[in-house]
Amino acid sequence: MGLTDIRERIAKACAAAERNAEDVQLIAVSKVQPNARVEAVLDQGHRLFGENKVQEAQGKWPEFMQRYDGVQVHLLGPLQTNKARAAMELFSAIHSVDRPKLAQTLARLAQETGACPDLFLQVNTGEEEQKAGVLPADADAFIAEARALDLPVVGLMCIPPVHETPSLHFALLRKIAERNGLAGLSMGMSSDFEEAIALGATHVRVGSAIFGERDYS
Ligand SMILES: *Cc1c(COP(=O)(O)O)cnc(C)c1O
Repeated sequence: MGLTDIRERIAKACAAAERNAEDVQLIAVSKVQPNARVEAVLDQGHRLFGENKVQEAQGKWPEFMQRYDGVQVHLLGPLQTNKARAAMELFSAIHSVDRPKLAQTLARLAQETGACPDLFLQVNTGEEEQKAGVLPADADAFIAEARALDLPVVGLMCIPPVHETPSLHFALLRKIAERNGLAGLSMGMSSDFEEAIALGATHVRVGSAIFGERDYS
């Protein structure tokens, strides 16, 4: 475990899939992790991180961004419309655009400020009640709507159901992306990023395998 190990595993998975390692971005998911662990990864030269909550990210990243050059943080978790403005200021990409109302809010703010992070639209590939994202059957229409709003849609994101084979979900996400001409695929976490790479992931989101288990207590 740890950053070096994960980088090696990504390189191997890329080689096995005959892909360039540079085509897969490693997002180190630092949510809930103590600052000392995050600093250790920054000190190893890693610069791309993922967070789940706007407020938590606001509490730690502005300071790290002052101390370390070139840091980028992506938002991976659900975004409330009333936090959209703050999210657009802090994050260089949002992976959790999961409903038309949020897309409309982001578009309005993008018009107003003249800037918008890269956006991934979240698809609820497992059609789980409790999970965010549009249903696979609604994905094409949602992509078209976001594009019509002039939003910088770069790809799709999914979080497969815990107890199902992730590959089926990764393959479905890829199919939807391909037929819509989207290059970005945000898929794969600590337990399944190698399968995601085999199926075309461009962004893998790895937390506990880099930093260790999260302590929610
Ligand atoms: C927490 C989280 C991850 C990382 O999960 P690990 O299992 O620790 O790798 C990836 N993506 C999202 C959306 C998450 O919330």
